[in-house]
Amino acid sequence: MAATILSILLVVAILGGCALLTQLFARVMYRRCPECGILNARRRVRCRQCGFPLVEEHADSG
Ligand SMILES: [Zn+2]
Repeated sequence: MAATILSILLVVAILGGCALLTQLFARVMYRRCPECGILNARRRVRCRQCGFPLVEEHADSG
């Protein structure tokens, strides 16, 4: 019985760790649009859905 509980705890711990890693990864790789809430790749300057500027645009855009 103890083994079953341990294995359940292990599965929960692994799932929780994966969820955490995925969130961290998403946070590092993506930027959430404050306007519509979708995830955009970090290199994007504007939201791919609503065009909201995600980063401060420089005056001299080239
Ligand atoms: Zn947006």
